[in-house]
Amino acid sequence: MSDVIATNQTILVVGGGISGLTAALEAAECGKQVILLEKSPSVGGRVSQLYKYFPKLCIPSCGLEIQYRRLKANKNVRLMTMAEVTGVSGEAGNYSVNVKIAPRYVNENCTGCGECANAVSAEFDDEFNYGLKKRKGAYLVSHMAYPQRYVIDPRIVASDDGAKAKEACKYNAVDLGMQEQNLTLNVGAVIWATGWKPYDAAKIQPYGYDRFANVITNVEFERMLDPFGPTGGKIVRPSDGKAPSNIAFIQCAGSRDRNHLEHCSRICCMASLKQATYVRENLGDAAKSTIYYIDIRAIDRIDDFHRKVKADPNVSFVKSKVANITEDKASGDVVLHGNNLEHAGTGNDMRYDNQHDLVVLAVGMESNVPAGVLPAGVTINKHNFIDPSEGVGVFGAGCSSDALDVNRAAQNATAAALRAIQVVNRVAGSEG
Ligand SMILES: Cc1cc2nc3c(=O)[nH]c(=O)nc-3n(C[C@H](O)[C@H](O)[C@H](O)COP(=O)(O)OP(=O)(O)OC[C@H]3O[C@@H](n4cnc5c(N)ncnc54)[C@H](O)[C@@H]3O)c2cc1C
Repeated sequence: MSDVIATNQTILVVGGGISGLTAALEAAECGKQVILLEKSPSVGGRVSQLYKYFPKLCIPSCGLEIQYRRLKANKNVRLMTMAEVTGVSGEAGNYSVNVKIAPRYVNENCTGCGECANAVSAEFDDEFNYGLKKRKGAYLVSHMAYPQRYVIDPRIVASDDGAKAKEACKYNAVDLGMQEQNLTLNVGAVIWATGWKPYDAAKIQPYGYDRFANVITNVEFERMLDPFGPTGGKIVRPSDGKAPSNIAFIQCAGSRDRNHLEHCSRICCMASLKQATYVRENLGDAAKSTIYYIDIRAIDRIDDFHRKVKADPNVSFVKSKVANITEDKASGDVVLHGNNLEHAGTGNDMRYDNQHDLVVLAVGMESNVPAGVLPAGVTINKHNFIDPSEGVGVFGAGCSSDALDVNRAAQNATAAALRAIQVVNRVAGSEG
């Protein structure tokens, strides 16, 4: 990494999800030098963990592969994975950025053959699948990981498994002596695109995510549908592996709630509508979906999608914020309790206790902007998103600036790239 050249003409992009990739590529294709840092071993972010994405319901590889091809072809972008920013100081046109790079223990000789994974036996929770399955101690993040380079888990480095992985590699790619590195980069502008994480469902105690096997989250449901995911693409009840027939989706689970996330995550309504189509695709007429909602926030083309899903006789809607969930111990089914507000004010008792065999919580998107890393002058709002600020050269992009869908995240990232280009151009102008 000692060959990393950065100057006040360089734009640093932090986070390699769809927003960071877009911002980096737009700036690089305008001729700017870009360093793209990603904390995990591969880029693609949360989009790569979706089964399909709206509005067209494409598989994520269709959009991401285009970005990966642009990235490979562009010499102006330097990608560093397993890299995290620990501090940023300075001012627009002249930032000093401290970066910590974790060792991958696998070098550029890796061909992705997988012999190291075949040789080791230790297994750990698979982060890419939200811990719903195990992965080996030598692993590729996902089948579509970019770069296609294996990682050795630090927990096996000093073990027999570490030695076995090294021995199995014909290309001399396993390097167990790799060390953590610390760099300081001097850059002109920073685009912050560290995205979002799912709100911790265990904090919504009345819904029993941490107590009832058949209460899962929307992000877990996405993984379940993926043919490469933990269930090989089948919708099953975690308690007994059976196909469910009566699935509930609970909207605003931890969002628009002053005890949890106050903001509306904006995409959860659309995500649940999309997931109701997964139920139809996967289980046909054998399963019904019920969406419990406060109000459906569907916009633009998404409104048409909403109408299509509503027309499906197997999908029904209950206007209600579910109060709490209990479990029927004998069957593992879950019972949702609340009041149906469709006819609120009519004097009718609309209380319900509805039994379902699987519940999917539409948990919201929580900002990943870290505390204490960004320099003074950067405005972080009460929801922990980066707001535009005057006079600074640090710009939020995508879900670092708000809860956004892919389309809006990419537009927002393009705008951030333009602002970063303006900063480095001003510096070049004042020096020239
Ligand atoms: C259940 C669900 C379903 C969804 N379905 C759709 C859909 O069908 N269609 C659609 O348009 N949108 C969908 N979305 C929204 C979509 O996931 C987001 O629009 C998209 O992920 C935003 O991309 P991003 O790059 O801003 O953030 P992310 O995807 O979160 O990427 C951020 C990247 O930054 C990295 N990172 C994090 N912290 C650091 C750090 N400190 N240093 C370096 N790197 C870091 C992460 O590892 C990650 O690679 C869905 C969301 C949910 C919750």
